[in-house]
Amino acid sequence: MEKVNFFGQSLEDLKEILKKYGKEKFRAQQLFQWVYQRGVTDFEQMTDLSKTFRAELPNIFTFDLPLIVQDLISTDGTRKFLFDVGGGKTVEAVLIPSEDRLTLCVSSEVGCNMGCRFCFTGKQKMQRRMTAAEIVGQFVQADKAIKGDQRITNVVFMGMGEPLDNPEAVFKMVEVIHSPWGFNFSRRRVTVSTSGLVDMIPLVAKNKVRLAVSLNATTNEVRDFVMPINKKWNMDQLLAACKDYTEETGDKVTFEYVLLKGVTDSIEDARRLKKVVRGIPCKINIIPFNEHPDSGFERPDEDTIVAFHHELMDIGVHVLRRKTMGRDIYAACGQLRSKFEGHPEKLDLQSAMT
Ligand code: SAH
Ligand code: SF4
Repeated sequence: MEKVNFFGQSLEDLKEILKKYGKEKFRAQQLFQWVYQRGVTDFEQMTDLSKTFRAELPNIFTFDLPLIVQDLISTDGTRKFLFDVGGGKTVEAVLIPSEDRLTLCVSSEVGCNMGCRFCFTGKQKMQRRMTAAEIVGQFVQADKAIKGDQRITNVVFMGMGEPLDNPEAVFKMVEVIHSPWGFNFSRRRVTVSTSGLVDMIPLVAKNKVRLAVSLNATTNEVRDFVMPINKKWNMDQLLAACKDYTEETGDKVTFEYVLLKGVTDSIEDARRLKKVVRGIPCKINIIPFNEHPDSGFERPDEDTIVAFHHELMDIGVHVLRRKTMGRDIYAACGQLRSKFEGHPEKLDLQSAMT
């Protein structure tokens, strides 16, 4: 039988695999505990397993994790990891500390096919969807990197890629980290952010994780322009799916709204935004555009951002202006990745080994 990557298997998957090898089900729990709770992948150290079973394990599983090729810590505490995912390609994950949280932002795809005009990732076609093992791997590596000093409290799928274009691997990852024998990570502390793959939104409710939607415009005309996915599913369809999500789960949806100078940042936009989300239990995150070269867009000036925020004051829902974090380490939108792509000789292989 072909070897499988351990990190891509849920507890149930593991039981099935072990069954094929004539092993008891509880062995799956033991393995999960060793690997996720004690961080051990060397079979010889798994002392409560018989010697013969230990000897068989390397023929059944691999424990490959995406290698960290860069690990950068920003002056504001944001920490960015760049992972080698083979073929000279890299993806990134970012740890973002805040008062009572440590949020890990993970990637779900190498590149992205949604083609949002303002997004650096979107400029590159999707190379491939990431495997569940690679998504779990980002969590495991980040968790190892903080060495038990702290714990990751939240996971957001806001890195590279469109998570609902890769739902199988994304929700498998959630299942793996959720397992009580794994990290026992609450589903309610996982947020999936989508550009609006309307037919996939019911999966977010089904998997009991939180939904964030990149709205980024207040009219179909502008949204068609900045986010081409809007031509497939327009704002009415998207907002109806959001409403269904809130009714099904009793949870709020988070609307992300990127402020693009002269495109989405007017006071009329702010007023329309209030109307657009009316009747949908929600939170709103306004995100001043992070500039990157040749994007064709600019970040609005501070007065415009403040005026937009202010106009939303009376909306009656929580509005948060997302701080720009990790600017000094390019912790936004695939900027770091671009510096290394195609130049594997520049990758710091020393840190990849540790
Ligand atoms: N593909 C998913 C998740 C990844 S993008 C999605 O689109 O929702 C995560 C968030 O970053 C989205 O809300 C997106 O609108 C925003 N974003 C992308 N590029 C940006 C930039 N240059 N500046 C600010 N926000 C950006
Ligand atoms: Fe893809 Fe999200 Fe970027 Fe759009 S904003 S191109 S969906 S990663």
